[in-house]
Amino acid sequence: MRIDEAEMILIGIGDAFEDKEDALSCYNALAEKLDKKNYFIISMCMDDIIFKSNLKQDRIVAPLGGKRMKQCPDACENKLYDITEKECPICHKELTYNNILCENYIEDGYMPMWEKQRLWLTGTMNKKLLLMELGVSMKFPQIIRWPFERLALLNNKAFLLRVNEKLWQLPEEIGKDNKGEAVKESPLKYIELL
Ligand SMILES: [Zn+2]
Repeated sequence: MRIDEAEMILIGIGDAFEDKEDALSCYNALAEKLDKKNYFIISMCMDDIIFKSNLKQDRIVAPLGGKRMKQCPDACENKLYDITEKECPICHKELTYNNILCENYIEDGYMPMWEKQRLWLTGTMNKKLLLMELGVSMKFPQIIRWPFERLALLNNKAFLLRVNEKLWQLPEEIGKDNKGEAVKESPLKYIELL
């Protein structure tokens, strides 16, 4: 299934994009290809580059967090602070970035957007859903890789496109039913060629 055939598109952006110099131009190229399409993006990157791109900002969720908010390393309060804040008002420890690298990661930063994505997903049933998985590694497979495979099998109009330089293989049942396509390629290069 190609982008122009899809009614809805769920995109998984993997850590292959993390801190890559040409990531921003790739995202902008993708935004152009997706123009007028109904899409949602789950990003595994913590570099926040995607939030500077032309992709629809109200359609991006980054479950691992980033550097846009701060939190107390001990999560004294379930609270996020502006990036300009320096220390926790309760324990006075130096604040850290609100992302998964923090031992007591506060998930409130991405939860409202995750909920929005979940609701969006309920509208994809029986729709021509293109699942574009771009450079997603096996770190936290429960966020993108496994759900995308499940969705491809659950929805009989869904199609999984897995682009990956190292882990491109698809589960047998997806391959044999023509429910997906594996592309052994750099996802950044792939977007340029779209
Ligand atoms: Zn604290």
